[in-house]
Amino acid sequence: MISRIDLRGDALPEGAALRDLLPRAEFDVEAALEKVRPICDDVRHRGSAAVLDLNRRFDGVTPDRTRVPAEALTRALEELDPAVRAALEESIRRARLVHRDQRRTDHTTQVVPGGTVTERWVPVERVGLYVPGGLAVYPSSVVMNVVPAQEAGVEGIAVSSPPQAASGGLPHPTILAACALLGVTEVHAAGGAQAIAMFAYGTDECLPVNLVTGPGNIYVAAAKRLLKGRIGIDAEAGPTEIAVLADAGADPVHVAADLISQAEHDTLAASVLVTDSPELAAAVEAELKTQVAATKHVERVTAALAGRQSAVVLVDGMDEGLRVVDAYAAEHLEIQTADAAALAARVRNAGAIFVGPYAPVSLGDYSAGSNHVLPTGGCACHSSGLSVQSFLRGIHVVDYSREALADVAHHVVTLAEAEDLPAHGAAITARFPGARTDGRAD
Ligand code: NAD
Repeated sequence: MISRIDLRGDALPEGAALRDLLPRAEFDVEAALEKVRPICDDVRHRGSAAVLDLNRRFDGVTPDRTRVPAEALTRALEELDPAVRAALEESIRRARLVHRDQRRTDHTTQVVPGGTVTERWVPVERVGLYVPGGLAVYPSSVVMNVVPAQEAGVEGIAVSSPPQAASGGLPHPTILAACALLGVTEVHAAGGAQAIAMFAYGTDECLPVNLVTGPGNIYVAAAKRLLKGRIGIDAEAGPTEIAVLADAGADPVHVAADLISQAEHDTLAASVLVTDSPELAAAVEAELKTQVAATKHVERVTAALAGRQSAVVLVDGMDEGLRVVDAYAAEHLEIQTADAAALAARVRNAGAIFVGPYAPVSLGDYSAGSNHVLPTGGCACHSSGLSVQSFLRGIHVVDYSREALADVAHHVVTLAEAEDLPAHGAAITARFPGARTDGRAD
């Protein structure tokens, strides 16, 4: 069901050579670019009419407009199962606690007397938040996108999610209810690349946005890559990943359950166990067989676990295990070892780290307070998950007096000359006619 990679014995290779030994999903965004280019062009030229046609083609539904009427949002919230409402409210409450603490305050540095640089944090004006809705629907992703945007102070928030045939062409009612719960009033029924193009170019129903965030399938990722520049994007989130670093003391029932929980997302989802215990590896493999047989989405889970992206990786010890998980840079990393917190503190590359036996990834997916929109595909070595920071821009405000500029003028002129940009220097000397600002010793 799940393959084994045995890295015991020989010294582990460095860098890319180690990464090449590890499993990874085939997620060829470059190839998908050619598929999404005509979709994006169509939306650019025909606006809403194109989005509606593409909805019909890819989602098999024909709503007559993309913008969800306000009554549908109100109705979805009224009809929401009270237990789901309570769970969403708790998820929102915890996410707000964490994301509110991420707010930045402006900071002024006095560089010299009379010379200051202030970093001013300004929210993006209008954002488009994508909430996936193909294989599964993700009201939790509404929370994870909207809460940091709201806490950052973004004024214009639009959400888009694929239309569902069972909902008469609207996004899934739980997604609409989650939007209503969060006070989001602009929601569109559009999925995949056409939703990202709608956000980027704007239509008669949706004003263009400055930034698009949110996870999605390969068409969503390709459209984000194609339209990056016109819009800002968060990381290109691909199929989900879990890596579990575990020792002989880990509970194989928990480890297997956690590996299955992420395999449930997608046939391309990756579940990777890294352990120095062959006994634990064997016990987890046996548990997987039992638990997979009893799980609801058995075909999807089986395909994900059997795929080239999933494996049990055997290592000599925890130092080697840490090197492997750092090279892999998982979206989600669980540490289920005797000294979990100490090991977690040594990890350099992961989207989010889940420490010990009582912090499974499912907790982070819904109710830990952390964000679940995280970098995948190894991008955790250079990118972070979604946060308040994703929706802010830091603007440097430079304020110098005449005296403060005069004090440094000769250095600016010297550097301008060194770069053969004399007009730069002239912009300084023009302010001090007759003064010596060439920076040369007499
Ligand atoms: P999705 O909403 O991303 O994509 C569905 C849309 O894809 C459809 O509406 C359709 O318009 C488009 N589409 C389908 N087939 C197409 C084709 N042949 N050509 C062009 N467009 C096509 O939903 P999904 O497919 O279920 O994917 C969701 C992904 O998001 C999964 O991989 C899941 O693991 C991931 N996810 C990640 C996170 C995270 O935080 N990293 C969270 C939730 C979900």
